[in-house]
Amino acid sequence: MAVNRRDFLKGAAGGGAALATAAVATAPAQARENKPMPPNAVGLLYDSTLCIGCKACVAGCKEANDLPPDFNTAEQLWDTPIDIGPKTFNVIKLYASGTAEHKDQEENGFAFVKKSCMHCVDPSCVSVCPVSAMTKDPQTGIVGYDPDICIGCRYCVLSCPFGVPQAEYDTPTPKIKKCEMCRHRQAEGKIPACAEVCPTGATVFGPIAAIDAEIARRRAMVPGETATFERRTLGSGDVHEKAAPKYLEHVYGEKEVGGTQFRFMSSVEFEKLGMPALRDKSYPSDSEGIQHTLYSGMIAPAVVFAGLVWAAKRASHVEDEHPEE
Ligand code: SF4
Ligand code: SF4
Ligand code: SF4
Repeated sequence: MAVNRRDFLKGAAGGGAALATAAVATAPAQARENKPMPPNAVGLLYDSTLCIGCKACVAGCKEANDLPPDFNTAEQLWDTPIDIGPKTFNVIKLYASGTAEHKDQEENGFAFVKKSCMHCVDPSCVSVCPVSAMTKDPQTGIVGYDPDICIGCRYCVLSCPFGVPQAEYDTPTPKIKKCEMCRHRQAEGKIPACAEVCPTGATVFGPIAAIDAEIARRRAMVPGETATFERRTLGSGDVHEKAAPKYLEHVYGEKEVGGTQFRFMSSVEFEKLGMPALRDKSYPSDSEGIQHTLYSGMIAPAVVFAGLVWAAKRASHVEDEHPEE
């Protein structure tokens, strides 16, 4: 019976889960702690309550990264990405409930959410890459990718808990595509394009320390009272006023999988926005210890890694309530 690639990967993940379970049982002492935040870490803060769904960040990202249109209609006239992919590093999605009348409300309301690489503090994609094509900058923490080193194994695709790395499918020499926090722009003293073009400051760029301070400031806001919000970069002084929303206490990315450098604030529960419910411990903190045991048995570490992610997602029983595009 022919086995296609999808079946193979599913089998590998399932088999990996069994192997991972057995390995965790036999090698827990080798697990390590989550890696710490790099000293000069930078990141993005996305505030769903400020987002108006204009998708300027989607267009800005395309332009900054020289990405082609992603046609998804029969006419093939417009760039209409429905999710991130090899031609799209950043999308805005919509959560809608009932009559969808009220912004940032779960019942009969709607909300927007941004999707791109989370720039994990302890990234799975970097951990599993056998040739270090995926790297985490030791200073800024930006997770970058080198296509000249990549051998096309797609372990990074399997391992990412957010489904971010995307393999090209329409070229004989496929590479991986993903957001690299516009590191080419940052090297020129610019900020990521999605933050640069955002008209409301829903996406702002800054050092992680400034993002943490801004999150604390917003958490302390009194809902309904006039508050100020910066555009583009924290500390830019480009401020506008708006009534403070009622934020969730949970800030997505503060703890998930050991923390991420892309953080989210919202008034609508993150699972409703399609964000996966994940544990606080990074997956590499378990899998790298397990790998040392498995190498002696010649079991591919990435297969085990994929199994760990698969098993964790199954265990979390996340309701499949992904928002519509
Ligand atoms: S979100 Fe995925 S691709 Fe991005 S750093 Fe984390 S593991 Fe890597
Ligand atoms: S940081 Fe750059 S590559 Fe990443 S989503 Fe924003 S514009 Fe796109
Ligand atoms: S540019 Fe800003 S307001 Fe517009 S969709 Fe993107 S994040 Fe939202």
